[in-house]
Amino acid sequence: MLTLDFHPTGRHFLQIPGPSPVPDRILRAMSLPTIDHRGPEFALLGKRVLSGMQKIFQTKHPVVIYPASGTGAWEAALANTLSPGDPVLMYETGHFASLWNNMATRLGLKTEFLGLPGAEGWRRGVQADMVEKRLRADTQHQIKAVCVVHNETSTGVTSDIRAVRKAIDAAKHPALLMVDSISGLASAEYRHDDWGVDVCVSGSQKGLMLPPGISFNALSPKALEASKTSKLPKSFWAWDEMVDMNKTGYFPYTPNTNLLYGLAEACDMLLDPQQGGLEAVFARHRRWGEGVRAAVKAWSLEIQCVDPAVYSPVLTGVMTPEGIDADAVRKTIYERFDLSLGTGLGKVKGRMFRIGHLGDCNDLTLMAALSGCEMGLKLSGVKLAGSGVQAAMDYFAGHPAPQLLQKAA
Ligand SMILES: *Cc1c(COP(=O)(O)O)cnc(C)c1O
Repeated sequence: MLTLDFHPTGRHFLQIPGPSPVPDRILRAMSLPTIDHRGPEFALLGKRVLSGMQKIFQTKHPVVIYPASGTGAWEAALANTLSPGDPVLMYETGHFASLWNNMATRLGLKTEFLGLPGAEGWRRGVQADMVEKRLRADTQHQIKAVCVVHNETSTGVTSDIRAVRKAIDAAKHPALLMVDSISGLASAEYRHDDWGVDVCVSGSQKGLMLPPGISFNALSPKALEASKTSKLPKSFWAWDEMVDMNKTGYFPYTPNTNLLYGLAEACDMLLDPQQGGLEAVFARHRRWGEGVRAAVKAWSLEIQCVDPAVYSPVLTGVMTPEGIDADAVRKTIYERFDLSLGTGLGKVKGRMFRIGHLGDCNDLTLMAALSGCEMGLKLSGVKLAGSGVQAAMDYFAGHPAPQLLQKAA
């Protein structure tokens, strides 16, 4: 029977691409007593997380922290920079791009949803040349923003944000570049200032290893400038009071104090120079992605992403053979092995499942997840060409993790 106090022995394997498992270090940090958010110590915490998040986004410009899920920060990005009826160019990479597009429509923006025809668009990243072509055709510069998803969590496909920036510049178009890196940040390489992004949206429960509940906007001077004339209604989401008060380490309304303790700890973990800092974080997730894909290839199952240049280091989308319901496979794996995998969303419902390799992982947690997948696939009657578990073991054993070698030295 399903009850909330059902606790099988050992630990649950939460291998969905967000929320990701929360490390003990972060859980302990969050267990401190809640302090006065107007008191003197709070300013220290506020300043610490704000500057930590600037380092994670790789920006010198303001980062805004909201007590909301990622969806709230999506709305904030649009509401702070745009006006009713503004044309915006959004690019369809998958389910999350579609949801952001729906939101923009609901907010009264005139969206154009660009993408490759048919199923192709959900298997590849943003085609920067299509963006450039569309912007060149907009000689009157009516399009006010280009919105793209950095890591499409529904498919396991990333997009080349630098190429989108170049496309906008090549077209000499003034549109803002807005990026959803809700699941990319802190697992996949992201460089806010260097890539020339105007607004980046992110959330706590993916690469940052926190529970759900806080989300972010990273800004650019151009985005701040646009916010001065933008006319979409906003109050809770408004950047002006937030950025102003944040200078002193405080917030205009009650922030999620305990989640911020966790965030401070997450920043320390991710930026730790002993562990190699952010570059090492990106390398770790690239390597885990390789190992997981080695398993999928050995099974001879199809990976949802068909362009190896944009394979996601955050998750892998695995397609099940024709006639096999991916959700039935997931159900078997959950019930038999206490392992949660991501469901197929939107257009790919029932056709694929997703293995998360974001946030707090190591080789052995991924080996456990792959074992669960392999057993569950076999139990579901899927004919596998070979052992993915063996292939992943060979990959991990043959490609040692650099930071563990350092520890041994
Ligand atoms: C998780 C996610 C969202 C939605 O965030 P919520 O925290 O569920 O509101 C949006 N975009 C992407 C790419 C995501 O991975």
